[in-house]
Amino acid sequence: MPRATVIDHAMTERLLDHAAGIARAAQLLREGALVAFGTETVYGLGADATDAAAVAGIFAAKRRPHFNPLICHYESAEAAFRDVVADRRARVVAAALWPGPLTLVLPRRPDCRIALLTGAGLDTQAVRVPAHATAQALCQAVGRPVAGPSANMSGQVSPTTAQHVLDGLQGRIAAVLDSGPCAVGIESTVLDLSGPTAVLLRHGGATIEAIEALIGPVARLPAPQEPLRGPGMLASHYAPSLPVRLDATSVAADEALLAFGPPLQGAGAIFQLSATGSLTEAAARLFDGLRSLDRTGLRGIAAMPIPATGLGLAIADRLGRAAAPRG
Ligand code: AMP
Ligand code: MG
Repeated sequence: MPRATVIDHAMTERLLDHAAGIARAAQLLREGALVAFGTETVYGLGADATDAAAVAGIFAAKRRPHFNPLICHYESAEAAFRDVVADRRARVVAAALWPGPLTLVLPRRPDCRIALLTGAGLDTQAVRVPAHATAQALCQAVGRPVAGPSANMSGQVSPTTAQHVLDGLQGRIAAVLDSGPCAVGIESTVLDLSGPTAVLLRHGGATIEAIEALIGPVARLPAPQEPLRGPGMLASHYAPSLPVRLDATSVAADEALLAFGPPLQGAGAIFQLSATGSLTEAAARLFDGLRSLDRTGLRGIAAMPIPATGLGLAIADRLGRAAAPRG
Protein backbone atom coordinates (compact mmCIF):
# COMPACT_ATOMS: atom_id res chain seq x y z
CA MET A 1 0.00 0.00 0.00
CA PRO A 2 1.45 3.41 -0.88
CA ARG A 3 1.59 5.57 2.23
CA ALA A 4 1.56 8.84 0.36
CA THR A 5 -2.08 9.70 0.29
CA VAL A 6 -4.84 9.15 2.77
CA ILE A 7 -8.15 10.38 1.41
CA ASP A 8 -10.13 12.11 4.15
CA HIS A 9 -13.86 11.59 4.12
CA ALA A 10 -14.66 15.11 2.99
CA MET A 11 -12.25 15.05 0.03
CA THR A 12 -9.30 16.91 1.51
CA GLU A 13 -6.26 14.64 1.16
CA ARG A 14 -4.05 14.31 4.22
CA LEU A 15 -0.56 13.88 2.81
CA LEU A 16 2.27 12.50 4.86
CA ASP A 17 5.60 14.20 5.28
CA HIS A 18 7.81 12.11 2.99
CA ALA A 19 8.93 12.15 -0.64
CA ALA A 20 5.68 10.79 -2.12
CA GLY A 21 3.50 13.12 -0.04
CA ILE A 22 5.59 16.15 -0.96
CA ALA A 23 5.54 15.16 -4.64
CA ARG A 24 1.74 14.84 -4.55
CA ALA A 25 1.40 18.23 -2.82
CA ALA A 26 3.67 19.84 -5.43
CA GLN A 27 1.71 18.25 -8.27
CA LEU A 28 -1.57 19.58 -6.86
CA LEU A 29 -0.11 23.08 -6.45
CA ARG A 30 1.25 23.06 -10.01
CA GLU A 31 -2.24 22.11 -11.23
CA GLY A 32 -3.71 25.19 -9.50
CA ALA A 33 -5.17 23.44 -6.44
CA LEU A 34 -4.91 24.63 -2.82
CA VAL A 35 -2.63 22.72 -0.44
CA ALA A 36 -2.01 23.65 3.19
CA PHE A 37 1.52 23.00 4.42
CA GLY A 38 3.38 23.26 7.70
CA THR A 39 6.16 25.77 8.24
CA GLU A 40 8.09 26.66 11.40
CA THR A 41 5.62 29.51 12.04
CA VAL A 42 2.05 28.34 11.31
CA TYR A 43 0.35 26.23 8.62
CA GLY A 44 0.07 28.16 5.36
CA LEU A 45 -2.67 27.80 2.76
CA GLY A 46 -0.59 27.36 -0.38
CA ALA A 47 -1.33 28.19 -4.00
CA ASP A 48 0.82 28.72 -7.08
CA ALA A 49 1.52 32.46 -6.74
CA THR A 50 1.93 32.85 -10.50
CA ASP A 51 -1.64 31.61 -11.10
CA ALA A 52 -4.14 34.37 -10.26
CA ALA A 53 -7.11 31.99 -10.37
CA ALA A 54 -5.42 29.67 -7.87
CA VAL A 55 -4.69 32.66 -5.61
CA ALA A 56 -8.33 33.79 -5.91
CA GLY A 57 -9.16 30.32 -4.58
CA ILE A 58 -7.27 31.12 -1.35
CA PHE A 59 -9.58 34.06 -0.62
CA ALA A 60 -12.64 31.98 -1.52
CA ALA A 61 -11.59 29.02 0.66
CA LYS A 62 -10.85 31.27 3.65
CA ARG A 63 -14.03 33.29 3.02
CA ARG A 64 -11.87 36.36 3.47
CA PRO A 65 -13.99 39.44 2.74
CA HIS A 66 -11.06 41.50 1.46
CA PHE A 67 -7.88 41.04 -0.57
CA ASN A 68 -4.74 41.53 1.44
CA PRO A 69 -1.23 41.02 0.12
CA LEU A 70 0.04 37.46 0.57
CA ILE A 71 3.52 36.23 1.38
CA CYS A 72 5.33 34.12 -1.24
CA HIS A 73 7.43 31.20 -0.06
CA TYR A 74 10.67 30.04 -1.71
CA GLU A 75 13.30 27.37 -1.14
CA SER A 76 16.16 29.88 -1.22
CA ALA A 77 16.97 33.59 -1.20
CA GLU A 78 18.31 33.20 -4.72
CA ALA A 79 14.93 31.96 -5.91
CA ALA A 80 13.11 34.77 -4.07
CA PHE A 81 15.35 37.48 -5.49
CA ARG A 82 14.39 36.43 -9.03
CA ASP A 83 11.00 38.06 -8.40
CA VAL A 84 11.86 41.04 -6.19
CA VAL A 85 14.68 43.58 -6.06
CA ALA A 86 17.05 42.94 -3.16
CA ASP A 87 19.26 45.81 -2.09
CA ARG A 88 22.24 45.51 0.27
CA ARG A 89 20.04 45.56 3.42
CA ALA A 90 17.85 42.78 2.05
CA ARG A 91 20.86 40.64 1.18
CA VAL A 92 22.37 41.15 4.63
CA VAL A 93 19.23 40.18 6.58
CA ALA A 94 18.51 37.33 4.19
CA ALA A 95 22.03 35.94 4.58
CA ALA A 96 21.74 36.05 8.38
CA LEU A 97 18.07 35.23 9.06
CA TRP A 98 16.92 33.05 6.14
CA PRO A 99 15.75 30.41 6.19
CA GLY A 100 13.60 31.54 9.09
CA PRO A 101 10.54 33.40 10.39
CA LEU A 102 11.26 36.69 8.60
CA THR A 103 9.28 38.13 5.70
CA LEU A 104 10.75 40.88 3.53
CA VAL A 105 8.62 43.34 1.57
CA LEU A 106 10.57 44.37 -1.54
CA PRO A 107 9.84 46.00 -4.93
CA ARG A 108 8.57 43.66 -7.65
CA ARG A 109 10.99 43.15 -10.51
CA PRO A 110 9.72 44.18 -13.95
CA ASP A 111 9.78 40.49 -14.92
CA CYS A 112 8.24 39.33 -11.62
CA ARG A 113 6.36 36.04 -12.17
CA ILE A 114 3.92 36.60 -9.31
CA ALA A 115 0.29 37.41 -10.16
CA LEU A 116 -0.79 40.93 -9.17
CA LEU A 117 -3.62 39.50 -7.05
CA THR A 118 -1.02 37.79 -4.82
CA GLY A 119 0.36 41.18 -3.77
CA ALA A 120 -3.10 42.84 -3.79
CA GLY A 121 -2.05 44.97 -6.73
CA LEU A 122 0.92 46.60 -5.00
CA ASP A 123 4.31 47.36 -6.57
CA THR A 124 5.89 45.47 -3.68
CA GLN A 125 5.80 41.78 -2.80
CA ALA A 126 6.37 40.00 0.51
CA VAL A 127 8.77 37.04 0.27
CA ARG A 128 10.09 34.47 2.74
CA VAL A 129 12.28 31.38 2.87
CA PRO A 130 10.84 29.06 5.55
CA ALA A 131 13.25 27.05 7.67
CA HIS A 132 11.03 24.00 7.82
CA ALA A 133 12.60 21.22 5.73
CA THR A 134 9.26 20.00 4.37
CA ALA A 135 8.15 23.49 3.35
CA GLN A 136 11.50 24.01 1.63
CA ALA A 137 11.27 20.68 -0.17
CA LEU A 138 7.74 21.56 -1.26
CA CYS A 139 8.78 24.96 -2.66
CA GLN A 140 11.66 23.32 -4.50
CA ALA A 141 9.39 20.63 -5.98
CA VAL A 142 6.82 23.21 -7.10
CA GLY A 143 9.55 25.31 -8.74
CA ARG A 144 7.39 28.43 -8.49
CA PRO A 145 6.66 30.91 -5.70
CA VAL A 146 4.01 29.52 -3.32
CA ALA A 147 1.58 32.07 -1.88
CA GLY A 148 0.56 31.19 1.64
CA PRO A 149 -1.50 33.08 4.21
CA SER A 150 -2.38 31.24 7.38
CA ALA A 151 -4.52 28.17 6.66
CA ASN A 152 -7.61 29.12 8.66
CA MET A 153 -11.05 30.49 7.90
CA SER A 154 -11.09 34.28 8.02
CA GLY A 155 -11.36 35.56 11.58
CA GLN A 156 -10.12 32.36 13.22
CA VAL A 157 -6.77 31.72 14.84
CA SER A 158 -3.80 30.53 12.84
CA PRO A 159 -3.43 26.72 12.73
CA THR A 160 -0.33 25.04 14.12
CA THR A 161 -1.28 21.42 13.35
CA ALA A 162 -2.74 19.66 10.30
CA GLN A 163 -5.80 18.82 12.39
CA HIS A 164 -6.39 22.54 13.08
CA VAL A 165 -6.28 23.08 9.32
CA LEU A 166 -8.82 20.32 8.70
CA ASP A 167 -11.08 21.60 11.50
CA GLY A 168 -11.54 24.81 9.51
CA LEU A 169 -10.95 23.89 5.88
CA GLN A 170 -11.92 20.23 5.52
CA GLY A 171 -13.53 19.78 2.11
CA ARG A 172 -12.59 23.32 1.01
CA ILE A 173 -9.00 22.61 -0.06
CA ALA A 174 -7.37 19.79 -2.06
CA ALA A 175 -4.90 18.62 0.57
CA VAL A 176 -2.95 19.26 3.72
CA LEU A 177 0.68 18.21 3.95
CA ASP A 178 1.01 17.01 7.55
CA SER A 179 4.47 17.79 8.89
CA GLY A 180 3.48 17.75 12.57
CA PRO A 181 3.08 20.68 14.97
CA CYS A 182 4.74 24.00 14.08
CA ALA A 183 7.87 24.80 16.10
CA VAL A 184 7.51 28.59 16.39
CA GLY A 185 3.71 28.82 16.38
CA ILE A 186 3.63 32.56 15.76
CA GLU A 187 3.70 34.32 12.42
CA SER A 188 6.79 35.64 10.68
CA THR A 189 8.16 39.09 11.38
CA VAL A 190 7.29 41.36 8.43
CA LEU A 191 9.99 43.89 7.50
CA ASP A 192 9.39 46.44 4.75
CA LEU A 193 12.62 47.21 2.89
CA SER A 194 10.97 48.64 -0.22
CA GLY A 195 11.78 52.26 0.74
CA PRO A 196 14.81 54.07 2.13
CA THR A 197 13.65 53.54 5.74
CA ALA A 198 13.32 49.98 7.03
CA VAL A 199 9.87 49.59 8.63
CA LEU A 200 8.64 46.82 10.90
CA LEU A 201 5.11 45.93 9.74
CA ARG A 202 4.48 43.00 12.08
CA HIS A 203 6.22 41.53 15.09
CA GLY A 204 6.89 37.82 14.78
CA GLY A 205 9.36 34.99 15.04
CA ALA A 206 12.49 37.02 14.16
CA THR A 207 13.41 39.64 16.75
CA ILE A 208 13.73 43.32 16.00
CA GLU A 209 17.02 43.32 17.95
CA ALA A 210 18.50 40.73 15.59
CA ILE A 211 17.42 42.79 12.58
CA GLU A 212 18.72 46.09 13.97
CA ALA A 213 22.05 44.48 14.80
CA LEU A 214 22.38 43.77 11.08
CA ILE A 215 21.03 46.90 9.35
CA GLY A 216 20.64 49.55 12.04
CA PRO A 217 17.49 51.30 13.27
CA VAL A 218 14.12 50.01 12.07
CA ALA A 219 11.04 52.25 12.21
CA ARG A 220 7.86 50.95 13.86
CA LEU A 221 4.45 51.59 12.35
CA PRO A 222 2.17 53.78 14.46
CA ALA A 223 -0.12 51.81 16.78
CA PRO A 224 -3.16 50.53 14.87
CA GLN A 225 -5.65 52.50 16.99
CA GLU A 226 -4.23 55.79 15.72
CA PRO A 227 -6.50 56.78 12.82
CA LEU A 228 -3.74 58.45 10.83
CA ARG A 229 -4.76 57.33 7.39
CA GLY A 230 -8.17 56.63 5.91
CA PRO A 231 -9.36 53.37 4.41
CA GLY A 232 -7.66 52.71 1.13
CA MET A 233 -4.72 54.93 2.01
CA LEU A 234 -2.74 52.37 3.97
CA ALA A 235 0.51 51.36 2.37
CA SER A 236 -0.86 47.86 1.93
CA HIS A 237 -3.76 49.00 -0.25
CA TYR A 238 -3.37 49.52 -3.94
CA ALA A 239 -5.60 52.29 -5.30
CA PRO A 240 -5.79 53.46 -8.91
CA SER A 241 -5.12 57.15 -9.50
CA LEU A 242 -8.36 57.62 -11.51
CA PRO A 243 -11.55 58.07 -9.45
CA VAL A 244 -13.73 54.97 -9.30
CA ARG A 245 -17.55 55.14 -9.61
CA LEU A 246 -19.31 52.10 -8.12
CA ASP A 247 -22.38 50.19 -9.31
CA ALA A 248 -22.44 51.97 -12.65
CA THR A 249 -25.57 51.35 -14.73
CA SER A 250 -24.44 53.63 -17.56
CA VAL A 251 -21.06 54.82 -18.76
CA ALA A 252 -19.79 57.96 -20.53
CA ALA A 253 -17.43 58.11 -23.51
CA ASP A 254 -14.72 59.72 -21.37
CA GLU A 255 -14.91 56.94 -18.77
CA ALA A 256 -13.22 53.55 -18.64
CA LEU A 257 -15.49 50.61 -17.87
CA LEU A 258 -14.66 47.80 -15.48
CA ALA A 259 -17.16 45.29 -16.84
CA PHE A 260 -18.64 42.23 -15.16
CA GLY A 261 -20.87 40.26 -17.52
CA PRO A 262 -22.41 41.84 -20.64
CA PRO A 263 -20.73 45.28 -20.80
CA LEU A 264 -22.54 48.60 -20.72
CA GLN A 265 -22.30 50.42 -24.06
CA GLY A 266 -20.49 53.67 -24.78
CA ALA A 267 -17.32 53.49 -22.64
CA GLY A 268 -14.04 54.98 -23.82
CA ALA A 269 -12.26 51.76 -22.82
CA ILE A 270 -13.36 48.43 -21.40
CA PHE A 271 -11.69 45.83 -19.22
CA GLN A 272 -13.81 42.72 -18.86
CA LEU A 273 -13.44 41.09 -15.42
CA SER A 274 -15.49 38.07 -16.44
CA ALA A 275 -17.74 37.79 -19.48
CA THR A 276 -19.47 34.78 -17.93
CA GLY A 277 -19.97 36.38 -14.50
CA SER A 278 -17.44 34.17 -12.69
CA LEU A 279 -16.37 35.77 -9.40
CA THR A 280 -13.18 33.68 -9.29
CA GLU A 281 -12.17 34.92 -12.72
CA ALA A 282 -13.10 38.49 -11.77
CA ALA A 283 -11.00 38.34 -8.59
CA ALA A 284 -8.06 36.94 -10.53
CA ARG A 285 -8.27 39.82 -13.06
CA LEU A 286 -9.21 42.69 -10.73
CA PHE A 287 -5.81 44.33 -10.20
CA ASP A 288 -4.74 43.85 -13.81
CA GLY A 289 -8.00 45.55 -14.78
CA LEU A 290 -7.60 48.51 -12.43
CA ARG A 291 -4.02 49.03 -13.58
CA SER A 292 -4.79 48.84 -17.26
CA LEU A 293 -7.82 51.17 -17.03
CA ASP A 294 -5.77 53.58 -14.91
CA ARG A 295 -3.34 53.90 -17.83
CA THR A 296 -6.08 55.01 -20.25
CA GLY A 297 -5.92 58.56 -18.88
CA LEU A 298 -9.71 58.87 -19.14
CA ARG A 299 -11.81 60.86 -16.61
CA GLY A 300 -12.56 57.95 -14.32
CA ILE A 301 -13.35 54.28 -13.95
CA ALA A 302 -16.99 53.15 -13.91
CA ALA A 303 -17.32 49.78 -12.20
CA MET A 304 -20.33 47.60 -12.98
CA PRO A 305 -22.16 46.01 -10.01
CA ILE A 306 -20.63 42.83 -8.54
CA PRO A 307 -22.83 40.35 -6.63
CA ALA A 308 -22.23 40.64 -2.88
CA THR A 309 -21.53 36.96 -2.23
CA GLY A 310 -18.35 34.88 -1.88
CA LEU A 311 -15.39 36.52 -3.63
CA GLY A 312 -17.73 39.33 -4.72
CA LEU A 313 -17.46 40.71 -1.17
CA ALA A 314 -13.68 41.04 -1.43
CA ILE A 315 -13.94 42.56 -4.91
CA ALA A 316 -16.54 45.07 -3.68
CA ASP A 317 -14.40 45.88 -0.64
CA ARG A 318 -11.42 46.73 -2.83
CA LEU A 319 -13.47 48.74 -5.31
CA GLY A 320 -15.08 50.59 -2.39
CA ARG A 321 -11.64 51.53 -1.06
CA ALA A 322 -10.63 52.69 -4.52
CA ALA A 323 -13.81 54.81 -4.68
CA ALA A 324 -13.45 56.32 -1.18
CA PRO A 325 -12.58 60.04 -1.03
CA ARG A 326 -8.83 60.67 -1.02
CA GLY A 327 -7.38 63.04 1.50
P1 AMP B 1 -0.40 36.42 6.60
O1 AMP B 1 -0.57 36.10 5.14
O2 AMP B 1 -1.65 36.16 7.38
O3 AMP B 1 0.82 35.79 7.18
O4 AMP B 1 -0.17 37.99 6.65
C1 AMP B 1 0.73 38.61 5.77
C2 AMP B 1 1.21 39.89 6.38
O5 AMP B 1 2.16 40.51 5.54
C3 AMP B 1 0.07 40.88 6.55
O6 AMP B 1 0.27 41.59 7.72
C4 AMP B 1 0.24 41.76 5.31
O7 AMP B 1 -0.37 43.01 5.46
C5 AMP B 1 1.75 41.82 5.18
N1 AMP B 1 2.18 42.08 3.80
C6 AMP B 1 2.26 41.17 2.82
N2 AMP B 1 2.64 41.73 1.66
C7 AMP B 1 2.82 43.05 1.90
C8 AMP B 1 3.20 44.17 1.12
N3 AMP B 1 3.51 44.05 -0.19
N4 AMP B 1 3.25 45.37 1.73
C9 AMP B 1 2.95 45.50 3.02
N5 AMP B 1 2.57 44.48 3.82
C10 AMP B 1 2.51 43.26 3.29
MG1 MG C 1 -3.81 34.99 9.25
